[in-house]
Amino acid sequence: MAFSSPYSLGRSNPSLIYILPMSQAKSVCESWFSTQKISNGLYLITEPHYYWFNRANLWLIKGQTQDLLIDTGLGVSSLRHYIASLIDKPLLAIASHIHFDHAGSLHEFEHRAIHEAEADALRTGDDYEALCAPKQGWVLQEHFDLLPYPEFTVEQYTMQATEPTHILQEGDVLDLGNRAFEVLHLPGHSPGCIALYDPQSKDLFSGDVIYDGELLDQLHCSHIPTYIATYERLQKLPIGGVYPGHYSIFGQERYEQIIVEYLEAKRKPGCPAVAPP
Ligand SMILES: [Zn+2]
Ligand SMILES: [Zn+2]
Repeated sequence: MAFSSPYSLGRSNPSLIYILPMSQAKSVCESWFSTQKISNGLYLITEPHYYWFNRANLWLIKGQTQDLLIDTGLGVSSLRHYIASLIDKPLLAIASHIHFDHAGSLHEFEHRAIHEAEADALRTGDDYEALCAPKQGWVLQEHFDLLPYPEFTVEQYTMQATEPTHILQEGDVLDLGNRAFEVLHLPGHSPGCIALYDPQSKDLFSGDVIYDGELLDQLHCSHIPTYIATYERLQKLPIGGVYPGHYSIFGQERYEQIIVEYLEAKRKPGCPAVAPP
């Protein structure tokens, strides 16, 4: 097999080039993450060198007495170090659910929380529940435009086991001093999906429960009748802004449309949703 020369690629820094078969030759990125300030006290962190379809939105909310991180990304680069300069208070890191694109870096944080339905999967580093077991085919080398570090390969990728320090349940309140969030347990995409809702602003940090893109309800961990029940519940929730686990922020109108479209599609006769369990 032919090997590429680091110099033939015309890069200015040969130390960033690793000699691999031509099809795999990739550079190491200088910064794995990128940050966008959305408003005072709210930052969106993403992993721009990773496949857009699975690239999660990681939300950092700065409170008066406590900071909150909603979702932690793939865990292929240190998120804790990356956000250190933004943190000046105790930080609670939360996974909206166990999937690898959300919970990958949770182990790095001193205070880490997940819903009780997926606490065991986190505790044991369950790659199957995290959707990152190799045979599931969700984590592929071609999904990385650049490498997070020189030796990175998807074969070694795994959900790192860690004991949650906080177990979340429906109705829990996370008080940041100047604002507070209620934990909503919203299964369907996976059994331990949560969203965080601010009843004052009516903002919803929705994880993979609702976003403006293809919803995944046919995973091994998904359950369409449960997803329908979750959407029937969400239909009654007053909404300001939605800060989803993927894609763009949206408002009440789009929120209502997504719910109606989903319910109309899935309630059709003959759909699994109306079949007996
Ligand atoms: Zn997910
Ligand atoms: Zn996701």
